Amino acid sequence: EITVNNFVDEYLRLAYHGLRAKDKSFNAKMETDFDPNAGKIMAIPQELGRVVLNLVTNAFYAVDEKKKEDGGGFEPTVHIKTCREKEVIKIQVIDNGKGIPKENREKIFQPFFTTKPTGLGTGLGLSISYDIIKAHGGVLNVSTKAGVGTTFTIELPI
Ligand code: ADP
Ligand code: MG
Repeated sequence: EITVNNFVDEYLRLAYHGLRAKDKSFNAKMETDFDPNAGKIMAIPQELGRVVLNLVTNAFYAVDEKKKEDGGGFEPTVHIKTCREKEVIKIQVIDNGKGIPKENREKIFQPFFTTKPTGLGTGLGLSISYDIIKAHGGVLNVSTKAGVGTTFTIELPI
């Protein structure tokens, strides 16, 4: 059993501090919007942790890229939201990063698809995340707009 809000919060911070340790200039705003009724779910912690870590790391990367392109004025932000709806828990990772161009949207869940430079991305994160969520009886969705941002939504049965 996993207490959703605490679990998600821990992995958000883990990703942030990991990136910060690698790159001292890395900086992004973290926002959380936790449903007090999120409660607990049955999940394998290492696996769900891997999914959250991957989605959050992708989000931080996307906002950081946009910051490098846009320069000042832009506030890189990663927002995590949990929400309990009847028998389903939703965990959303929302970023205001560079978005995913139309031509890539079909490919992002495929193994080894990456747009990151060699050494920075294996292209396995989303394909593994998709499989893990599916194995838990849930779904992983994406909604994105190029230049505006991306939202990944995990839906898990309670
Ligand atoms: P990796 O992170 O190793 O590249 P992933 O499977 O995690 O592999 O992601 C695949 C690709 O999907 C990324 O290279 C990137 O092009 C795109 N992507 C994933 N998440 C985001 C995001 N939040 N914003 C923009 N692009 C994203
Ligand atoms: Mg990744």
